[in-house]
Amino acid sequence: MMTQEAIGFSQRLGILLRCLSRNCPRCAQGPISGLGYFKEVCSNCGLVLDRKNGFLLAALPYTYFIFAVLWLLPLLILWAQSLLSYPMAFGLVAVGALVWPLLLYNYCKMIALGQYYFFLPKELNRI
Ligand SMILES: [Zn+2]
Repeated sequence: MMTQEAIGFSQRLGILLRCLSRNCPRCAQGPISGLGYFKEVCSNCGLVLDRKNGFLLAALPYTYFIFAVLWLLPLLILWAQSLLSYPMAFGLVAVGALVWPLLLYNYCKMIALGQYYFFLPKELNRI
């Protein structure tokens, strides 16, 4: 449990790393997310992980940023170098636009959760 004292950078980094390793930011038990699931409440400490109303909305830009950097940009470069035909590049981008978000979204929720508690670590004391 966090105390009400000032929370240092290393503690904040620990919270972020717990989230990036798919564990609860408060009790470090996990995993709390996977390819097909994201727990709304930690089964160990009861921390509400998804507060709804767009709480984890930051996962969407993370998802599309990763898609753009790891999929769209390399395909664009291959197409610009004439190593891929336009229909092939377009098809791969279209398929990737559907598959990448499905694969990444739950993990990107963990990134969003880590980001939130990195900046507001005292919120971990809330139920
Ligand atoms: Zn927990």
